[in-house]
Amino acid sequence: MAILAGNWKLYKTRKDVESFFDSLADIDPAGHECYVAPSPSLLETACRKSQEKGNKIGILSQNLAYKLEGALTGETSVKQLLELGVKGSLVAHSERRQFFGETNESAAERCKIGLEHGLKILFCIGENLEERKQGRFEKVIEAQLNPLFKVADAFSKETVQKQLVLAYEPVWAIGTGVTATNEEIAASHDFIYKLCSKAGFDLSILYGGSVKPENLGAISSIPRVNGALVGGASLEAKSYRDLLACLTRPLRSPT
Ligand code: PEP
Repeated sequence: MAILAGNWKLYKTRKDVESFFDSLADIDPAGHECYVAPSPSLLETACRKSQEKGNKIGILSQNLAYKLEGALTGETSVKQLLELGVKGSLVAHSERRQFFGETNESAAERCKIGLEHGLKILFCIGENLEERKQGRFEKVIEAQLNPLFKVADAFSKETVQKQLVLAYEPVWAIGTGVTATNEEIAASHDFIYKLCSKAGFDLSILYGGSVKPENLGAISSIPRVNGALVGGASLEAKSYRDLLACLTRPLRSPT
């Protein structure tokens, strides 16, 4: 079974959130895990609507504080997220790394507190264009994962496998309309899977970067791809429904 997670970034109003859930009241996840991640001010509305419609689409935060409380202006704590009914959080999205100074170490700390409190963590990794061109992909991914593995070592394998998910998002493919080729995705996921196995973890790995209904069917059939983290194409209800259908519908054999 796969995971479909929509990252709504800094989009939508309360009214938009309500109509998204109303339009998808009849959605059938067919055993897959479906999520959307709205901005903090929309979490309460999203959680209420999700519950009203039977929790078929769970709510994720886009980030979480590394402490339960304290002098951390602008942050949202696990305690506050749990109170709303949030099921988990994205951590270390490339926009957090790029614009808000998220480091591999600070991201691992956020992951730690989420795991401690039973949240699902979608931990984002991925190289930028320069790093790919310079052939530094493997080094970058290893550096992103090592602090995370250190944190994960303190938890049982069962907890980590159940709560921690990786999202491989090549930065050059996010919001650009450029998707990595299926060969590039296969090779990257294979490399990440092997790194995880070497560290003793068996984690689901999502792909993200300009995923849309037109390409998700093929992407989700690549070995070691366990679903998708989707930005732009997750915003509209129809497109979200079509994305889910790509995971549930068997691929047509090539003609
Ligand atoms: C994202 O925001 O994580 C993302 C992958 O965006 P997009 O699908 O729009 O490229």
